[in-house]
Amino acid sequence: MPLSAIDLVFLEDVLVGLLNTPSPTGYAQRAIEYTGNILAQFPALSLSHTRKGALVANWPGRASDAPRALTAHADTLGAMVKEIKSNGRLKLTKIGGFAWNTIEGEGCTVFTHQGGTVRGSLLLSKASSHVHGSQVNDLKREDDNMEVRLDARVNSADQTRALGIEIGDFVVFDPRVELTNGFVRSRHLDDKACVACMLAAVKALHEAGLQPAQTTTLHISNYEEVGHGAASGFPPDLAELVTVDMAAVGEGQASDEFHASICVKDSGGPYHYELSQRLRSLAEAHNIPYKVDIYPYYGSDGEALWRAGGDVAVALIGPGVDASHNYERTHMDALVATTNWIVAYLVS
Ligand SMILES: [Zn+2]
Repeated sequence: MPLSAIDLVFLEDVLVGLLNTPSPTGYAQRAIEYTGNILAQFPALSLSHTRKGALVANWPGRASDAPRALTAHADTLGAMVKEIKSNGRLKLTKIGGFAWNTIEGEGCTVFTHQGGTVRGSLLLSKASSHVHGSQVNDLKREDDNMEVRLDARVNSADQTRALGIEIGDFVVFDPRVELTNGFVRSRHLDDKACVACMLAAVKALHEAGLQPAQTTTLHISNYEEVGHGAASGFPPDLAELVTVDMAAVGEGQASDEFHASICVKDSGGPYHYELSQRLRSLAEAHNIPYKVDIYPYYGSDGEALWRAGGDVAVALIGPGVDASHNYERTHMDALVATTNWIVAYLVS
């Protein structure tokens, strides 16, 4: 059976909208709401939220003897104000796993607990070459040596507090989204690219008048980057979970920006063999360009469910993303392949 046509304009629009919606882990509600508003357009889905804040959509299938779920995460890397320095600048604590040098010089927004925003940038505390010479090169990029310079006239902690900034306020780094020649370059393609693919798959099935083969839960996670996103939020009779998350591209990796990948093993060990085999067969049957890969420093939301005691088959697929947890990039080819794979799974 040929796959349903994918609306590429929709896929791209949803992705760009999501990328430009700030959603660090712990403060991902805007991206959850954005996703919910789009899913609300599809009448077959019934939407709800978990108490933890994840978005869950129930989609009745032709059968319901082996219910399925797909998960992708809307939360991203980010930071929180750890300390207000005596010079009025901010010391941060990271949210999620990344290196400071990947965001050095990036613009950022502080979301104050009072509901305001303050712009600034993330810099080395000894940033000027004309003042600090070789230290700009030599200084280790660690928490104590990085600071936010606010775009406001402040030079004391009290002046910064007067802007409404306090310890615990969330800090969001500019995604810098750019589309060129089919490439999508942005921060946080992990995992907004996969949320967009999931939505495009839902649209394709709806427009074709198709129902999933099994009753399916679409789970948009909001705590993945800290390791426990999809630990909850599924029906008790769930039989299998396909995690949709980025594939790790780089030296020694099979994945690339033009294919979807299936991960057969990552830091959490092997995924479910039979479910992975079925997904590979589906990719073969539908001519979906895919790679089989192993991710050396990686954990997924599917494993979060396993670690929480979930007795379900779990597999992991997703588009190749270059320079992950850095200034990332993928290509529409990988997004289309991932979307087609989701469609093939849903109707199989
Ligand atoms: Zn991810």
